[in-house]
Amino acid sequence: MRSAFDLTFDELVALRPPNDARYLYRKLFNFSDWAEGRPVVGKESTVFLSEHFDFALPEITEVRRSEDGSSKLLLRLADGNVIEAVHMPRAVKNPRVTLCLSSQVGCAMGCTFCHTATMGLVRNLTASEIVGQVLAILRALGPIDSGRVTLVFMGMGEPLHNVEAVLRAVAIMSEEAGLRISPQRITVSTSGLVPGIERMASAPVRPCLAISVNATTDEARARTMPVAKKYSLQDLTTAVKRLTLRPHEKVTFEYVLLRGENDTVEDAERLAEIVRPFRHNLNVIPYNVYEGALFAAPEEDALQLFVKRLQDRGCLVTVRRSRGRDVAAACGQLVQEATVRAPRRGLRNLSA
Ligand code: SAH
Ligand code: SF4
Repeated sequence: MRSAFDLTFDELVALRPPNDARYLYRKLFNFSDWAEGRPVVGKESTVFLSEHFDFALPEITEVRRSEDGSSKLLLRLADGNVIEAVHMPRAVKNPRVTLCLSSQVGCAMGCTFCHTATMGLVRNLTASEIVGQVLAILRALGPIDSGRVTLVFMGMGEPLHNVEAVLRAVAIMSEEAGLRISPQRITVSTSGLVPGIERMASAPVRPCLAISVNATTDEARARTMPVAKKYSLQDLTTAVKRLTLRPHEKVTFEYVLLRGENDTVEDAERLAEIVRPFRHNLNVIPYNVYEGALFAAPEEDALQLFVKRLQDRGCLVTVRRSRGRDVAAACGQLVQEATVRAPRRGLRNLSA
């Protein structure tokens, strides 16, 4: 049976009279009002929904709360596969919450610094599994008001390798009658799949874009990111330039700093050249080490120096430190810890 969370508003309108559809759609996504895991609606609507739709959500099997307020979650999908997500409230009362989401079980891209890569790609998530991931987390940990939520596809998987499902999920989650999470508060992070960026450019509901740069020449990039053998930095920046940005929209660039691999003065200079043409945020992420990692984290001094060099060259830089180190692992690390056994700590999700 089809998932109720795979529906756009227009698709429901095709099945029900408009007023009824609006009422039903609101109920469907008003998760704080559900009883026994499903929306409470009138008798006739209950029959209609039950005949057509399934309400199952991914099941949260583990929550690890961190001292810094963030929580790492494991979610089990209907077929038993496990994904992970991170819930990151800001450190204020009634905070905005950022959810770091998975788009695939595992990942095919093979980046040599990434723990998820060691799983390979198991499968894509469906749009309803992506929406279900968000609903399951908000139901468990809040906030009830989905207007206070920011979403980043920076968990397991390469979202643009599953671009149709991701875009569909974004369209569903941004529906006015439903969750109302604006696409301007949803960011898709990519290792650089140019066709996926081109596809995003033509999407009627387009999320924001983050590019994982991670190295500053094609040669160096190809050493750690196999995708760079297919699409050069030039291809990548050209595709990003073709996006028509909304007023105030910025492109996020991510740079995982790996000790002795991508942290030279020249790297800082070239990185500044890459990002400066864009209205940007540059996130420098000190490498998060895990058991068996091939790289080391930068020393604090080296990190600060690298950031300063970028700032001196006109970049808007934020250092993104891993949150929740004390509860171990995020994107890509937690799942394998659960399935393999590795009492190892570490995390590489991005702070809110
Ligand atoms: N596949 C997408 C999104 C998921 S990875 C992408 O690569 O962009 C999200 C971010 O985490 C990427 O910028 C990636 O470079 C970074 N990352 C991967 N492994 C990491 C690690 N061990 N420490 C710090 N950041 C890491
Ligand atoms: Fe996949 Fe992103 Fe990890 Fe690369 S960094 S292997 S693209 S999840």
